[in-house]
Amino acid sequence: MIEVEHLTKVFGSGTESSNRVLDDVNFTVDGGEIFAVVGPSGAGKSTLAQCLNLLQRPTSGKVIVNGDDLADLSAAALRTARRRIGTVFQSSNLLARRTAAENVALPLEYLGATKQSTKTRVHELLDRVGLGDKADHYPHQLSGGQRQRVGIARALALKPAVLLSDEATSGLDPQATDSFLRLLTEVRDELGLAVVFITHEMETIVKVADKVGRIDQGRIVEQGALVDLVLDPDSPLGKSLRPRGA
Ligand code: ATP
Ligand code: MG
Repeated sequence: MIEVEHLTKVFGSGTESSNRVLDDVNFTVDGGEIFAVVGPSGAGKSTLAQCLNLLQRPTSGKVIVNGDDLADLSAAALRTARRRIGTVFQSSNLLARRTAAENVALPLEYLGATKQSTKTRVHELLDRVGLGDKADHYPHQLSGGQRQRVGIARALALKPAVLLSDEATSGLDPQATDSFLRLLTEVRDELGLAVVFITHEMETIVKVADKVGRIDQGRIVEQGALVDLVLDPDSPLGKSLRPRGA
């Protein structure tokens, strides 16, 4: 479970309000839930992602994962705690000179896992994302959708409690997007992960989200359960989520 409380991020001196990229952001995602964050370009979505996995230090507020406030930890404790969040990026960020298996192995090697246990775990993970037969392929020998699924396998390597995805389906064709979204719901259900799914694509939200938050100029201006929003005639988000004409 991840709890975000009064999260604020100000770049630079902090005196100008235009540098306030996140402003009092609050939400909770339980294990087994997908929370979709939607908003226009520049709204602060990627900054939010970076504050959640502590690639950026929040200016104030809390990021609590399974009870511990990550924003409050020392650098050493943070290194361990960061493992609780697995991230999938827009362009998957795979290392070009490493095979799919070697990319998935990276976080395990980094932790000093034995060769044998790494090998077993990597095969398990690649099988899980349906790419057991592509272990020796390099990123350029994989499709965009396959690269994103390797990205999921790598994000799951350290058994995180939270899976964070920032525009991971952008640029994928509809079929690859659906396969990515299916995998996301499967790992949510099988592993009980809290999933934070960041996107600007409304169509994908309806397919996977349990809850949705709309971010605009650094603030979450509307949030709730997907079903409630869709049924609420006064919700701007609900309006854009309902099928046309409904
Ligand atoms: P997109 O949909 O285009 O990916 P986004 O919602 O992810 O947009 P962010 O990348 O979070 O938006 O950027 C939000 C705002 O924060 C932008 O105005 C951006 O210029 C600003 N910003 C992001 N990173 C920094 C930084 N390191 N220093 C200063 N300003 C930044
Ligand atoms: Mg972004």
